Formats: sequence, structure tokens, C-alpha cells
Amino acid sequence: MNKPKLVAGNWKMNTTLSEGIALLESIIKGVKLLKTNTKIAIAPPFTHLSEFRKALKNTDVCLAAQNVSDKLQGAFTGEISALMLKDLGVKKAIVAHSERRQYFGETNESALFKIKTLLKQDIHPIYCVGELLEDRERERHFEVVEEQITTVLYQLTEEKLPKLTIAYEPVWAIGTGKTATPEQANEMHEFIRAVIAKRFGEDLAGQVMILYGGSVNSGNASALMAQPQIDGALVGGASLKAEEFIAIIKAAG
Ligand code: PEP
Repeated sequence: MNKPKLVAGNWKMNTTLSEGIALLESIIKGVKLLKTNTKIAIAPPFTHLSEFRKALKNTDVCLAAQNVSDKLQGAFTGEISALMLKDLGVKKAIVAHSERRQYFGETNESALFKIKTLLKQDIHPIYCVGELLEDRERERHFEVVEEQITTVLYQLTEEKLPKLTIAYEPVWAIGTGKTATPEQANEMHEFIRAVIAKRFGEDLAGQVMILYGGSVNSGNASALMAQPQIDGALVGGASLKAEEFIAIIKAAG
């Protein structure tokens, strides 16, 4: 039996709290009208988490964070810990999004620390990987993604693996309107699964959810979600429009 897909919305640094609540209410209304097997997560700005927890109470929509500190607590001004997220009812957190890698110097190494602190609090990480345009043009994309996977996942024990979600997000497709073709995405997902299987075996590799991200919208979602290795989507821009986001969830099944 196919595992249910996951569609996660990354709102990035968008919406004030009141705008966010209005958008969330539209999404909840839309989800209620859908008959879907798909699991849904929303990662709003940190400032929304507490109110969103209340709004999501009797729904199946899961609360997610966009980032986390790699430290547990202490003198780290401006940071938010996994413990604080857990206290707010956060169930998933995005780690090493390409914007964090590009603008805030995050690396595979810092991602590993973040993933470990999240797992200690039983928050499930969504670990982002993906190559730059120049990597793809030089045909280095498999090499880059392999390193992003092995330096992080190979340091985890096997019982942690099913708690991990990977988001394959080619950087050239994020917020650009360019999407990887369904075949390109599927090919990379298959490769990622093979890299995981090399260390942990086919069975565990099959349990890791691998999402595609990069300009997913209502127009391209069905073709992407139909690919056998694609377990769902991490959606940026289109998750800020309730109708678009609902259409993507519908496309996921
Ligand atoms: C993202 O932020 O993870 C993302 C995929 O953005 P977009 O859908 O806007 O490309």
C-alpha cells in the first residue's frame, strides 16, 4: 500500500499574525471540504506558532517551524530552541532550507546538530537538500546531493530514520517559477533513496519521506505527485494562497 503523501507549506517571512490567521482559517476551511489521505503541515513565522496551535487544535493539520537553533538553551540571543518549539506543540521543523544555507551560512554540519536537537524533543525534521544551478550545469548535482545526505544521515542511528523527511529542492527552482521536470525530480528522489539504502537498507530507505520542492503550484502538482518516488511537496509561494495550496493537496491524493 502506498504511504500517504505529505504537503508542507513554508510561509517564509510572510504575513503579520492577523493576516496569517485569516489565511490559516481559509486553508482549514478548504481542507475540511476535501476528502484526502494526504498529511498537511504548515510552517508559519515563529511569531504565529502559539496562536496557530490553538487554531489547529481540532484539525489534522500539523504545526511546523521553519528553523531551529542547534543549541538547546542559554546565551544565544535571537535563537529559538527545539525545547521551546516542543512547548508550543510544534511537530515538524524545516532544517537547512536553501535560503538558510545561502543567506545565513548554514551547512550540512549545522544541519546535523539541528536535526539531533529536534529528534531529542521528538520533533520530526524536514531536511532540505538540493543543488545550485551551476552544479546541475556542470553535472555535479548527484555528487552535491549525495554529500548533503551522507554527511547528515549517515551520522544518525537507524531508529531515527523513519522520523526524518527529506525535501529535495533544487535551488534553481525555488521561488523562480522554474520547476524540475517530474522525471528530473523522480530521478533525484530515486538516487537519494539509493544513497540511504546503501547505509540503512532498502526497507528503512523506503520509509523515509522524500518531498519535492521548487515552484510547485496547482498547475504542475499532479504530474509531480504522480511520480513513484515523490512522497509529497514542500511548497513556498503557492502555500500563501489558500486555493493554490488546497489544489496542491488535492493533487497529492
Ligand atoms: C520553499 O520555500 O521551500 C519553496 C519550495 O519555495 P517555492 O515553492 O516558492 O519555490
